[in-house]
Amino acid sequence: GKGIAVFTSGGDSQGMNAAVRAVVRMGIYLGCKVYFIKEGYQGMVDGGINIVEANWSSVSSIIHLGGTVIGSARCQDFRERVGRMKAAKNLINRGITNLVIIGGDGSLTGANLFRQEWSSLLDELLANGEITPEQRNKYRVLNIAGLVGSIDNDFCGTDMTIGTDSALHRIIEATDAIISTAYSHQRTFIMEVMGRHCGYLSVVSALTSEADFVFCPESPPPEDWEKRLCTKLEQERTAGQRLNIIIVAEGAIDREGKAITAEQVRKVIVENLHQDTRVTVLGHVQRGGSPSAFDRILGCRMGAEAVMALMEAKEDTVPCVISLDGNQAIRLPLMDCVKRTQAVAKAMANKQWEDAVDLRGKS
Ligand code: ADP
Repeated sequence: GKGIAVFTSGGDSQGMNAAVRAVVRMGIYLGCKVYFIKEGYQGMVDGGINIVEANWSSVSSIIHLGGTVIGSARCQDFRERVGRMKAAKNLINRGITNLVIIGGDGSLTGANLFRQEWSSLLDELLANGEITPEQRNKYRVLNIAGLVGSIDNDFCGTDMTIGTDSALHRIIEATDAIISTAYSHQRTFIMEVMGRHCGYLSVVSALTSEADFVFCPESPPPEDWEKRLCTKLEQERTAGQRLNIIIVAEGAIDREGKAITAEQVRKVIVENLHQDTRVTVLGHVQRGGSPSAFDRILGCRMGAEAVMALMEAKEDTVPCVISLDGNQAIRLPLMDCVKRTQAVAKAMANKQWEDAVDLRGKS
């Protein structure tokens, strides 16, 4: 059978384990030899004990765990050609020519580059006598399928990235907890949530927690936001509300592109309204804990589809990313999605917020 390896790279997210499990079991079911590569690209470059064959039971009892049991890492070596040469040799030594990568846009970009270079890496390994001409020929094609694991939902081409739904659950649990204490003491709470340059977590958590105000990266507030915020908070209290909740995305900015921080918002409220105001930074709690049912199923479906894509790949098939489109698992060209994701980042940096939202929305 074919040699398949699965690895997780970049920031972790809940549901990665479900995806790893699905890849292993679908691969074995279809008669493949499936390997784990531990610690992301670092494990691929280092080889040795980092690349181990998986069996049916090695992925038992992991579907309910957060994070990634096979480890993830950021890897400088893989950014250099020498590192990628080592990685190629380690894969060939084990007969691996199919990769399922679970990571963010950086990791997927690296995978695409690896695939583009594969042929020339093999030529160089052959010239150095590190692989045989038979190996050069037998392993000439590297197939890649990518899955997006990220709590930020910041990848173009998929409706939901693996981990986003669980992070939302964490945020909502925390907000509900804060609301009860805020109610008792008539306090105002400012919650800082993750999402990098994507406002998905902040906007959805604001809508589902009945927040009074939200600051998110794609929609910087009007210049007079301080006044608007205070008026709104005051109105709510006058109408009998005992507390206020404000959500600030970690990537929130003003119309000049300058960061708006939770602390800054707190000062505005305290100075103008003298409300008892506290800041809660949720931080890594959002990435932790067990994955939601949605993320488990998403990971399962995406992992199984990735293996199918690899099985059906021809010599000239471009790397794909498995995406969720409505309720369908679909395959899209990996590099198109990565390029669009990078275009969003560029539009954001140029303060073209509407363009960024448009680009992200297109699927
Ligand atoms: P994420 O995948 O979550 O976006 P990073 O951007 O940190 O996270 O990427 C994870 C790893 O992927 C990097 O540490 C590096 O090993 C690899 N990588 C990222 N971009 C590239 C690239 N352009 N070329 C080669 N490898 C890359």
